[in-house]
Amino acid sequence: MKLILLGPPGAGKGTQAKRLEERYGLKQISTGDMLRAEVKSGSEIGQQARAIMERGELVPDAIIIAMLGARVAQPDVAQGFILDGFPRTVPQAEALDLMLREKSMPLDHVIELQVDDAALVERISGRFTCARCGEGYHDRFKQPAKPGVCDVCGSTEFTRRADDKAETVAARLEAYHRQTAPLLPYYAAKGILRVVDGMAEMGEVGKQIAAILGPPPGKG
Ligand code: ADP
Ligand code: ADP
Ligand code: ZN
Repeated sequence: MKLILLGPPGAGKGTQAKRLEERYGLKQISTGDMLRAEVKSGSEIGQQARAIMERGELVPDAIIIAMLGARVAQPDVAQGFILDGFPRTVPQAEALDLMLREKSMPLDHVIELQVDDAALVERISGRFTCARCGEGYHDRFKQPAKPGVCDVCGSTEFTRRADDKAETVAARLEAYHRQTAPLLPYYAAKGILRVVDGMAEMGEVGKQIAAILGPPPGKG
């Protein structure tokens, strides 16, 4: 199965992608995570992307398309994947169509997580992540069961993203509405766009997505 999770920054794409990885055996492909790894390693892509990401703007299509193209060619995603944070522009969507057509791997669903801008600011400013395993948390909506200790791996180190601050959120939301929202009619016209209420609590959002996808393979 090939899915896209589409939605503004903080909508819950990463949270839901992780759940789907476990439940459906799909691989999450997050261009944001890939870019943060490039920045951390100090690679050429990382050097080009760093300042753009900190301003909350989009990294140029050519860089993203090349990076994503290399990722979907790897064998671990041949069975299926969840795209989280890609595509974000119409040229990226067109490039993806071309790539998948060449591999005869059509998209199954594009799932839009709808969340109000006001809620996004709170979601983004409260977000933090386990530094060891990458599990996502929130100051208000998802604290570790034992304060300061990751539920998944037991680590006591957490990180906050450099771009998850109030000043940058407005620029990211603007980029979403201007550059990414045009993908909604693009996929609606192909008949594969499905809409989910991303304002609901995490488990409920997961149920809405599961209702679209149907039972996981082998558990039908
Ligand atoms: P979020 O889902 O919270 O918006 P991401 O981790 O997906 O954040 O992206 C973080 C930043 O990385 C974006 O603000 C942008 O600068 C860059 N980025 C990620 N994916 C893309 C993409 N497909 N096209 C352009 N820039 C991207
Ligand atoms: P995205 O990948 O779309 O940027 P995340 O999955 O990282 O978004 O979620 C942003 C923040 O909001 C995280 O701290 C996460 O724990 C929290 N969150 C995710 N889904 C929900 C939800 N349905 N209700 C409340 N908080 C949520
Ligand atoms: Zn952890």
